[in-house]
Amino acid sequence: MSSNIIIQRICNYCNNEFTAKTTTTQYCSQICASRSYKARMRNAKIEAIQTETKKKLSKPIEDIKGKEFLSVRDVAKLIGCSRQAVYNIINSKRLHAVNIMEKKTIIKRSDLDKFLSIQPLKPVHPDSVHYTISECYTLTEVQKKYNISETALQNVVRRNSIPKIKSGIYSFVPKTIIDKLLN
Ligand SMILES: [Zn+2]
Repeated sequence: MSSNIIIQRICNYCNNEFTAKTTTTQYCSQICASRSYKARMRNAKIEAIQTETKKKLSKPIEDIKGKEFLSVRDVAKLIGCSRQAVYNIINSKRLHAVNIMEKKTIIKRSDLDKFLSIQPLKPVHPDSVHYTISECYTLTEVQKKYNISETALQNVVRRNSIPKIKSGIYSFVPKTIIDKLLN
């Protein structure tokens, strides 16, 4: 697209006036063209990083809920307290945590759930004598059937004083009570 007309233009990068060889030339030189390209690439990268940061900052708590291993920050977010409070709980040995390296402490989700569900041991609920295992769900069965988390289920059980029957490593809850509550 060469022409014989002389076109005076302003370089898009250095703002110097130059004589363009074609109507579409935007830069005074290869150097300016390449610097401009690099600058645009850099800006695109910065923008991508900023978007990523924003996404991370607004990361919903749901993400944390799905994690098996939690940071102190995660635990603080989950239970709604400061990180220092979490460290205090860990230091009091009530919550098991592992220091995988300096300044990096991880907490297993199951340990957190255990900590949260710790309560004074109650004698077996008198009602439980009326239920046999076949009349009960395991906690996992309830979670699957009603699609609720372990923590949520434990809250339901605790709040409603649902009798829990222990057998081996499993805890059972009466089907009739659970169905009535969660249906
Ligand atoms: Zn230029």
